[in-house]
Amino acid sequence: MDNMTDKFSNRILLEAMEFWGYTGCLDSEKRSGQKFIVDIVLFFSDLPATLTDELSDTVHYGEVFDLVKSRVESSPVSLIERLAQMVVDDIFAVFQRVSAIDISIRKPDAPVSGKFQSMGVRLVRHRQDDFLKHDVYLSLGSNIGNRIDHLRNAITMIKDNPAIDFVRVSSVYETRPVDYLQQPDFLNIACHIHTRLSPDELLRFTQSIELELGRVRTVQKGPRTIDIDIIMFGDVRIHSERLVLPHPRMSERAFVIVPLRQIAPSIDLPELDADGVEYFGEI
Ligand code: ADP
Ligand code: MG
Repeated sequence: MDNMTDKFSNRILLEAMEFWGYTGCLDSEKRSGQKFIVDIVLFFSDLPATLTDELSDTVHYGEVFDLVKSRVESSPVSLIERLAQMVVDDIFAVFQRVSAIDISIRKPDAPVSGKFQSMGVRLVRHRQDDFLKHDVYLSLGSNIGNRIDHLRNAITMIKDNPAIDFVRVSSVYETRPVDYLQQPDFLNIACHIHTRLSPDELLRFTQSIELELGRVRTVQKGPRTIDIDIIMFGDVRIHSERLVLPHPRMSERAFVIVPLRQIAPSIDLPELDADGVEYFGEI
């Protein structure tokens, strides 16, 4: 409880900011745009500016305004739910001092017939520092088209996610297929990240990259433009229908273990026959 009181004892208020945005499900909303009203409360467990009178000891609300404006006025998403989460991610990424955010996004002229003041969403989010402490390892592979480009694009998308801190990436290895053998050789890499996302949110994010880079699921374990597996999420253990952690087959797969060992020498990994896994180059 003390912790909660702490968190909520310092606030900065940005009230009824007005923007012109294009978020909406209807074509007319996307085309012509409409007025958005955004309210934000930033919470701080500690705000030294109350004592020092220094701008560097607080968060400059003008800078927050500009960040919110650029997101709300340029975002191509359909739902204000998603837009609000994107604003939250932006603020947490840029202003490390902020420990929680309460945001409302409202449309006073929402395309709904009838009398109302506005339609909107409100999210309250805490910085998920607990997850940030976890060492998360991903394994990426590609064996269709321009394999190295697919890996590079995926890495760029991972680095661009404001909820992810990228630590390092392994060299690229060329590997012979396992399980389903009638397919081209893979390029594989491993990467190490920290993230504020939960394991489930991270899986949804990696699957959205697979979709965007054009992965089509035809043959199970068959060829793919990009496959991203979550190998380890700290010492989190999950066994759900969608997600198993640590990845159940990691310790049998040299194409996972070899790049992983390169970037995580302190993790105890099985000694596998690295036959069929060859150094290819750097990403
Ligand atoms: P594979 O990677 O085994 O060749 P897919 O990439 O098609 O096969 O993944 C099949 C399913 O595995 C996904 O729909 C996902 O929900 C599930 N899955 C379970 N655990 C994990 C994990 N740790 N990382 C990625 N996907 C996982
Ligand atoms: Mg996979």
